[in-house]
Amino acid sequence: MNFNSHTDLAVGLAVRTVNTLTPGEQRGRPYAPPEGKARHDVLLEMGMGDLDDRDASVLTELAAELRVVFASVAEGDIDAAAHQINHLLEVTRARPHLNRHDDEPWHLHFHGTGGTVSADWVAGLATGLAVVLGSEFHERLGVCTAPHCDRVYVDTSRNGTRRFCSTACQNRVKTAAFRARGR
Ligand SMILES: [Zn+2]
Repeated sequence: MNFNSHTDLAVGLAVRTVNTLTPGEQRGRPYAPPEGKARHDVLLEMGMGDLDDRDASVLTELAAELRVVFASVAEGDIDAAAHQINHLLEVTRARPHLNRHDDEPWHLHFHGTGGTVSADWVAGLATGLAVVLGSEFHERLGVCTAPHCDRVYVDTSRNGTRRFCSTACQNRVKTAAFRARGR
C-alpha cells in the first residue's frame, strides 16, 4: 500500500526521526538517543545535512512533538493527533511551495522560509503525517505493542493489521506466546 511517493518518504522519515531521537524502550531494552557527534552523524546519514549541535537539539525537541502524533493515534485519540499536527505545521511554518533546483523538474516543498534547517525538515514530515491523518488511512500510525518497546511505525500493509515496530518485536511476542502455551 502506498500513500504516494512523497508522503511515503516523509512518513517513513518521521518514523525514523522519532525512533532515533526520542528516549524510551526499543525491542525489550531501554533506548537512549545518540548525542553529540553520534547524533550529528546519524542525522547526516538520514539525509538531514550537516546540522550543528543547536539545530540538532531543535530537531530532537521536535521529534518528541512528532511522537505525540503517533501516541495519540495509538490511543485512538485522532482529535489530539490532528491538533498536534496543526501545532507542528504552525511552529515549523509549513507551506507548500513549488521548487526547481539541480536540473530536477518542478516539485513541491513543504517548508517555509527563514526557519532553521530542523524546522524546515519537520515541516515536511508534519505535512506527510497530515496527509495520512486526513485520509482513510489515518489509523495507520502506531506505537509498538510488544512489551518493553515504544518505537513508532507506519502500517503500509495491505490489510492494516500491523501492531509491532519490527519483525524482531513480532517474533519476541510470538515466542513468548508459544512458551506460555507450552507451560
Ligand atoms: Zn517494538
